[in-house]
This record gives sequence, structure tokens and C-alpha cells, in this order.
Amino acid sequence: MRAMAYDPDNIFAKILRGEASAHVVLDEEHCLAFMDLMPQAPGHTLVIPREPVENLFDLSDAGLSHLIVATKRVAHAVRAAFNPPGMMIAQLNGADAGQTVFHIHFHVIPRKGGVAMPLHARTVADAAELADNAARIRAQLDAG
Ligand code: 5GP
Repeated sequence: MRAMAYDPDNIFAKILRGEASAHVVLDEEHCLAFMDLMPQAPGHTLVIPREPVENLFDLSDAGLSHLIVATKRVAHAVRAAFNPPGMMIAQLNGADAGQTVFHIHFHVIPRKGGVAMPLHARTVADAAELADNAARIRAQLDAG
């Protein structure tokens, strides 16, 4: 795995600072969750810590605890909103593992048997569709 300093100009750091936009579904003290711009399925959501960390190996135990709890909460909301039979939770470490944005994140991806999953980070989704999907997930989070 590459050993490089955290790049504070990566796109997720910019989203955290409000310098880049995202369809946010969860905004809390330790974590932020928003729609993946190039989703692998409708409802594909990313959950990130505010802690500026590249990957799992650098994340504090406290940060990981907050992140996985937020991920579970978001996964519940995505499941309630999209009702998929399966749910993939994924996290990639290093370019060799397929990581493309170097701020740690968990992917929450609805899955259904027999429906192939496209490669990640390929096709930008329609903005209105992302906004609508985010609203559906937010409604579930608001409902508790
Ligand atoms: P990784 O490959 O690092 O595990 O996942 C990075 C994810 O970030 C990809 O699924 C990709 O589609 C998504 N992504 C890349 N750029 C942006 C962006 O500007 N905004 C959002 N919301 N997602 C992005």
C-alpha cells in the first residue's frame, strides 16, 4: 500500500469543508453520509468520518467506532428506502485494492441476486435522481 500523507484536497475533504457539493443524507458530529456520485446501484451511499484519514489502518479506534455505527444506521435507512434483498458494505484500502478517493469511507450498496453490479466510479448519475434517492434515505433517518 502506498505510504503517502493525507491529501487535504481530496474530494471528500472538500465535501466535508463545504467546498464541494454532495447529496447529504446524514450530517453529525463525527461522520457525514452522502450519495455516491457514480453509484453501483440506486441508493449507493458513502459514509465517511470527519477525521482526516486515508484508510482503515490510520483510523483511530474511536473514529472507527463512530464510523461503523453511522454506517449501520445509514444501511438501515437505505434498506428501508429501497427494500433490497441484499446489502453490501465495502471498504477499500489502497489503490491496489481499488481505492480511488483517499479519505476512508464505507460503501453501502443495495444488492439483488442476478443483477450485475457495474464497476465503481464509472458513470455519473442523474443529479435529480441522486437528490430524490437522498430524500428517500433522509426520510427514513428522520423517521428513526
Ligand atoms: P473508492 O474507490 O475509493 O472505494 O470509492 C470512491 C467512491 O467515491 C466511488 O464509488 C466514486 O463513485 C465516488 N466518488 C468519486 N468522486 C465523487 C464525488 O465527487 N462525489 C461523490 N459523492 N462521490 C464521488
